[in-house]
Amino acid sequence: MKSIGVLMTCPMHKYLEQQLETHFNLFKLWHCNSSITEFLKTHQGNTIRAVVGDTNIGVDAELIASFPNLEIVASYSVGLDKIDLRKCEEKGIRVANTPDVLTDDVADLAIGLILGVLRRICASDVYVRIGKWKDADFGLATKFSGKSVGIVGLGRIGTAIAKRAEAFGCSISYFSRSQKPFANYKFYSNIIDLATSCQILIVACALTEETRHIIDREVIDALGPKGILINIGRGAHVDETELVSALLEGRLGGAGLDVYENEPEVPEELLGLGNVVLQPHVGSDTVETSDAMADLVISNLKAHFSNKPLLTPVI
Ligand code: NAP
Repeated sequence: MKSIGVLMTCPMHKYLEQQLETHFNLFKLWHCNSSITEFLKTHQGNTIRAVVGDTNIGVDAELIASFPNLEIVASYSVGLDKIDLRKCEEKGIRVANTPDVLTDDVADLAIGLILGVLRRICASDVYVRIGKWKDADFGLATKFSGKSVGIVGLGRIGTAIAKRAEAFGCSISYFSRSQKPFANYKFYSNIIDLATSCQILIVACALTEETRHIIDREVIDALGPKGILINIGRGAHVDETELVSALLEGRLGGAGLDVYENEPEVPEELLGLGNVVLQPHVGSDTVETSDAMADLVISNLKAHFSNKPLLTPVI
């Protein structure tokens, strides 16, 4: 397979890059200023038969149109929001992603964010480091165990979060497109009702046209001044302007965020707030999971070019 042209859209996990270099003829778009026009000045567009994108730079209509021999998009992510799926389908281009292998890590981080916000872990760490403990005790935080948790999107990651929260004695409710066979989780067909009924609202659904800004002013106000919003889905699930004003005005109790609308930009106002914990989109970023995701990308590519079924096909 050494002669098969594979294009990586941006730097990802080093191990993935090494594996792609070992098995395929790897091209790196960022070596051409991440510009397809620049790339096509020095390389033949028809050499590329596969593209590996991620949550930063995916595969849009321009990229698809530039590579007439493109057969497969193997995404180094489970989210598909950066891939023009309609165009891929139209052109008969296969798409694979990396589900399951990252579920535990993202669910773990969601719980970490809840604990971070409620138990003020980041603020109390700073308190110790800057020597303030010698002057006075830190003060009280908020209990997590036993709270009511609402999950938007009870898919793989949402379900893994629910299981973890159950172990903390939390009651679980959720909003999804369809009701799931979990008798002990309460289903809401309306997200406002879910937000009204829970103390912690976690966003874990896929980003689509329907779920863009699914967390708007109405949902935030339903969650209320004691409510906590956790987002480990995608930044665009939340109307960030509304989130910022709700936090500044005390209409929302706090937030734990791994993702933002314009990454890596984070609204300036959030940086000064003590009731917010911020992560730089690292939900699946552990060595173990990144290696597993990379192996899955390679396995999907190898399967495709050996005329075998994809391991994790999307289309
Ligand atoms: P999944 O198993 O496909 O679950 C997606 C969930 O989204 C499903 O429960 C689905 O509901 C729900 N959903 C889709 N459209 C909806 C709508 N219109 N209204 C309500 N719910 C809707 O995917 P997953 O593996 O759990 O991953 C979920 C998302 O997490 C990914 O798409 C990605 O954006 C994000 N993610 C983030 C990180 C990170 O680093 N922060 C890492 C990995 C993934 P139904 O089951 O009812 O269809």
